[in-house]
Amino acid sequence: MRAVKFLQKSLPTEDEIVLVDQTATHTEKTNLHEVAAGTIAPERITYQIPDIIGKRVQFVQATVKHVDIEAKQVSFEDHADLSYDYLVLGLGFQSETFGVAGADENALPMDDLATSEAVYQHIEDRIKAYKTTQDKNDLKIAVCGAGFTGIELLGELTQSLPKLQAKYQTPAIKLVCLERMPSILPMFTQELRDYALKFMEKNNVEMRLGSIIEAIKPGAVVYSDTDKQEHEFSANTIIWTVGVSGSHVIADSGFEQRRNRVVVKPDLSLDDHPEVFIVGDVSAVMDPESNRPYPTTAQIALAAGEQAAKNIAALRHDQATTAFKYESSGTVASLSDRDGIGEVFSSNKPVHGYPASALKKIITDRSLMESAHLGTVFSKGRFDLYH
Ligand SMILES: Cc1cc2nc3c(=O)[nH]c(=O)nc-3n(C[C@H](O)[C@H](O)[C@H](O)COP(=O)(O)OP(=O)(O)OC[C@H]3O[C@@H](n4cnc5c(N)ncnc54)[C@H](O)[C@@H]3O)c2cc1C
Repeated sequence: MRAVKFLQKSLPTEDEIVLVDQTATHTEKTNLHEVAAGTIAPERITYQIPDIIGKRVQFVQATVKHVDIEAKQVSFEDHADLSYDYLVLGLGFQSETFGVAGADENALPMDDLATSEAVYQHIEDRIKAYKTTQDKNDLKIAVCGAGFTGIELLGELTQSLPKLQAKYQTPAIKLVCLERMPSILPMFTQELRDYALKFMEKNNVEMRLGSIIEAIKPGAVVYSDTDKQEHEFSANTIIWTVGVSGSHVIADSGFEQRRNRVVVKPDLSLDDHPEVFIVGDVSAVMDPESNRPYPTTAQIALAAGEQAAKNIAALRHDQATTAFKYESSGTVASLSDRDGIGEVFSSNKPVHGYPASALKKIITDRSLMESAHLGTVFSKGRFDLYH
């Protein structure tokens, strides 16, 4: 969306711009955890792509199956092949099981709108069913993984579960998070990590840190901890937020990749293919400062989409491309709609509590502005910034 916005402004008028997506509904994926916890309606984090793109962009709804960079052709599951002169690949992420047995079959992923809606439906169905089943496991929820997604999901669940408990008049619902690392969110200071853990404790979330998940059985997480013994936590809702990889289309198309991410040149193009740009969660862009790939985040995906478009425009005007450089202005993790932790790099100051959650809403609004337009910010943005 961001690339298309720039391309239509800067390409010669005779150029054709085609935007392809498997769905006509754009989802702000940074808010999926709210849909999965039932704290926001799906339509609040989505908008229709054809309503946003300019008149000179043709939208094709189709599912990419394979990209042939030698033939400059994209093939689809449900559409005739398309050929291109320049390509921006931004196919995004998918849930990754890391080979844990049974994770695919017995845990719920949360990587797009449909799977996030399914998570909430499952949670509500189990809590509702308790009245007839009297099965205690219907009132137990396991969240596997305490990364960004797991922590933000737990934060939202602390708001929605008490409401479901009251609605279906059940005993208390048990929420447990299992995480292999001994601590959470290493990108934040110890003070902020402690704040998040305190939040979990206050809201009766049991954090089982240092739990190495070995397998997911129907209705149980099998894990070992420091005692090296095998344990089980049984729950009829098991949510998988252990990690993500890039889209499988990357490996299916024969790109040289690791976890479906392709290392690109500093200008975001592919080695030997200056006409192919790979951005967002399917690309690995080296940060010249740290000599490590930039993390896969929405903020970086947006900036990369813009840079790829600028470089294509440069090539069309016989100019040199420029290297991608990203200056992070900070990182925020929400802990419900009213709480959070964050670091704002301009002030070098950690923030927590309500100011951090307000900051997250401002970032969401800015992201809407960058991928869509002002009208979308007004209709879908977050304006409840004041306590
Ligand atoms: C719960 C959660 C919270 C997050 N919070 C933050 C945050 O606070 N800040 C932050 O910076 N990042 C956050 N992220 C990460 C962020 O969402 C991703 O880094 C970002 O969405 C990546 O953008 P993208 O454009 O590469 O891919 P995506 O947003 O995944 O978009 C990919 C697009 O490609 C389409 N597509 C995929 N496969 C095909 C196909 N085969 N054919 C056709 N179309 C296809 C999809 O429909 C989608 O429209 C969060 C992620 C999650 C899950």
